[in-house]
Amino acid sequence: MKWYEREIEEVEKMTRSHFSSGLTEEEAKKRLKQFGQNKLDEGETVPAFFLFLAQFKDFMVIVLLVATLISGLLGEYIDAITIILIVLLNGVLGFIQERKAEKSLAALKELSAPQMMILRDGEWVKVPSTEVVTGDIVKVTSGDRVGADIRIIESKGLRIEESALTGESVPVQKTQDAPSGEDLSVGDQENMAFMGTMVTQGSGIGVIVATGMKTEMGKIAHLLQSAETMVTPLQRKLEQLGKVLILVALFLTALVVLIGVYQGHDAYIMFLAGVSLAVAAIPEGLPAIVTVALALGVQRMIKRKAIVRKLPAVETLGCASVICSDKTGTLTQNKMTVTNLWSGGRTWEVSGTGYEPKGDFYGNGKKLNLQTEKTLKQLLTFGALCNNARIVTSEVKEGLLQKTKLEYTINGDPTEGALIVSAEKAGINRESLEINYKIIEEFPFESTRKMMSVVVERSKDGKRFVVTKGAPDVLLSRSSHILWEERQQTLTPQREAAVNRSIEDLASQALRTIAIAYKEIDKAANIATEAAVESNLTFIGLQGMIDPPRPEVKASILECREAGIKTVMITGDHIITAQAIAKQLNILPTHGKIMDGNTLAKMSVTDLEEVVDDIYVYARVSPEHKLKIVKALQAKGHIVAMTGDGVNDAPAIKAANIGVAMGITGTDVAKEASSLVLSDDNFATIKAAINEGRNIYDNIRKFIRYMLASNVGEILVMLFAMMLGMPLPLVAIQILWINLVTDGLPAMALGLDQAEGDVMKRKPRHPMESVFARGLAWKIVSRGFMIGVVTLIAFWLTLSQHPDDLMRAQSVAFATLVMAQLIHVFDCRSEHSVFHRNPFQNIYLVIAVLSSTALMLVVMYFPPLQPVFHTVGLNVREWLLVLGMASIPTIALAGFHLFKRK
Ligand code: ATP
Repeated sequence: MKWYEREIEEVEKMTRSHFSSGLTEEEAKKRLKQFGQNKLDEGETVPAFFLFLAQFKDFMVIVLLVATLISGLLGEYIDAITIILIVLLNGVLGFIQERKAEKSLAALKELSAPQMMILRDGEWVKVPSTEVVTGDIVKVTSGDRVGADIRIIESKGLRIEESALTGESVPVQKTQDAPSGEDLSVGDQENMAFMGTMVTQGSGIGVIVATGMKTEMGKIAHLLQSAETMVTPLQRKLEQLGKVLILVALFLTALVVLIGVYQGHDAYIMFLAGVSLAVAAIPEGLPAIVTVALALGVQRMIKRKAIVRKLPAVETLGCASVICSDKTGTLTQNKMTVTNLWSGGRTWEVSGTGYEPKGDFYGNGKKLNLQTEKTLKQLLTFGALCNNARIVTSEVKEGLLQKTKLEYTINGDPTEGALIVSAEKAGINRESLEINYKIIEEFPFESTRKMMSVVVERSKDGKRFVVTKGAPDVLLSRSSHILWEERQQTLTPQREAAVNRSIEDLASQALRTIAIAYKEIDKAANIATEAAVESNLTFIGLQGMIDPPRPEVKASILECREAGIKTVMITGDHIITAQAIAKQLNILPTHGKIMDGNTLAKMSVTDLEEVVDDIYVYARVSPEHKLKIVKALQAKGHIVAMTGDGVNDAPAIKAANIGVAMGITGTDVAKEASSLVLSDDNFATIKAAINEGRNIYDNIRKFIRYMLASNVGEILVMLFAMMLGMPLPLVAIQILWINLVTDGLPAMALGLDQAEGDVMKRKPRHPMESVFARGLAWKIVSRGFMIGVVTLIAFWLTLSQHPDDLMRAQSVAFATLVMAQLIHVFDCRSEHSVFHRNPFQNIYLVIAVLSSTALMLVVMYFPPLQPVFHTVGLNVREWLLVLGMASIPTIALAGFHLFKRK
């Protein structure tokens, strides 16, 4: 179907849509059922069964299974069946871990799924883009990713970047008119917008003509299915490490077997024990558990309102040394209220809080009668006219008596909302303005221009006006005249100085200032471009609005400072407003400097590098400058988190080590470029995410430490026994059982561990730091060594008392090894020593340890299992020996710590 060739009316008929009211909810549901969801087919996913099979593809597991099979054929049925059961159980555990990891990753994808603005039953609503159907009327604005193929009905300066489809990165101008020519390529269909392309400017309305695999994007979907890699640097490093560890484990077990055979042990038993030892000692679960720890951490972050889009960011978060944060909405509440106004040398105050349109105007401390205030009324009228925000009222029930109360919120930009509210307080409402003025053209607000304009026609006399609002200094530079004493007069240097003084006066009270200007134009005047419209204006005056800091931000900034992380504020606001707020939030230390956008624009990255460490606030900055800031900071060795919401923020977000996008105000483009989305737009959430990021990394270190020390212990007890010419301290089945009960649950529970008290008191981690840094390797080797030695001692003591009861000695060794590991797991929770933390704080770990203990007791005391596991029940003295020996590593090392500190 060549939609671009059709007339708009024809398209309306063919899509069975209504351009004025959209589809009904009912019709949309019907179509959704009939034509399916609006999404591209995913690439193949691995069926669960194969994922399960993959658990057994490890070389040593296969060797073990083959060996077991042989022993089964030789008549050792019980042994064979038990080993197979244990291997199966291990496989199930691995499978569950991997499935969990996969599911959480899928959930992540869902969370960042985009939404679309759709007209349904005559109302504009946001729906997930998977639920839109052919015939839906859709609105797109700058920053949106187009979610389906759309025939454009109305374009307001709409420009779309279509490189995803055409490879052409220069945005294309879109119109509602049919282009000339036949058989046009996608790039030439100027009245169409396609799924996957990006709105860079303006806005537009259109009707959906194709969804899902029927879109142009769907036709090439197979090209796009190479999903982004979700492997983190740590996972990659651990994979490499895993290979080394396999070799070491294989070498050591071979040594155990060889020495054992040399010492006269039965070759077959030694072989089976050796293979079991290899299976137990190879940390095959490590990658899966790392993924689970990352995924669990990511889920905790979601609870704290931080959505991770790219898994590697979780690790980088722990290294962040600078956070560059937008001011409005992130550090402040973005709940604007106009409090002060200025025009032509006069000032006014207005009372009232929030968006409730109730308040009075005061001049010189006296309440005013607005009838006579012509200039003030013009300032308010034009502020509300050049505006897209609306006040929304809803009824809420309050208090014990459930009294109904009206709640006022803003639909649209809060800055514009504040202007609508200030006008309403003077009895000027938007609806009646729309009757008196017809909007002919609009140039939406852009952070780069820092202003917005409309061209309007007055109904009563047909006169046309340009009305512009924006940053006062910018508007002043576009003005040739000013309203002074209710008359239009030339903007002389004296008057300009007076305006500047009042801008500074309002800004120093931490107020955000918006200026309003206008000009009358005739009907033939050129209104095609912003440049033509936004010049030779007449400056009317200023409205100053408060935007209170978010209450939790100040404490978060302090916490970040203690964690060695510097907070930098970046804002489009006036330098003095920025300074006032930075002081309130304690961002600006006494030696700290502020830089303004003009100075920044003239500097090269190298120039900026010289001073970047001293600057804490950047004001009147355009989004493009953020990239320079990121680069200069990175050149100084910083790991930078950078926030943003608009299209122009995307390059800086992408370049930052941790790109952070706003969940509420952020555009699709910014979100897609980011690795972290704040679902509440709040700075405190970045801090929470960093806190979690550090914790996740700590937890990964904890279980690496636990697993490897346990494995070292298992190998060493066997190796030493063989070297000393002793009998086998553990039989194959016992080794496999230990591997199952100690590696599985407790290791997973460590992934759920709470952060240690001092996570936010340490300096950021160096990104190149090894996982084994800060003494971890030593801890693993020394703990592992001690676990091995105490097990061997317990075994030897029992054996010397009962020289002909090998099974008893092996049971003692089995119990000691398990208990030593289960006690050691509590050690692993702290980078300092076990006594630094309450062992009952992590309830999952306590449960895991108790269930592992129970699993050990079952094979020791359940009579039918005793012959299978070669165990006997122990007496009290033996248990005392077991527990005493098992706690020695922990107690000895804690004592050593204490001694070292003293
Ligand atoms: P941030 O702190 O998140 O960078 P900001 O709101 O401080 O954002 P911008 O949104 O770029 O920065 O705004 C810059 C200036 O443009 C503001 O100080 C204000 O004077 C003006 N401005 C903001 N919003 C509007 C708007 N909707 N229409 C006209 N002017 C605006």
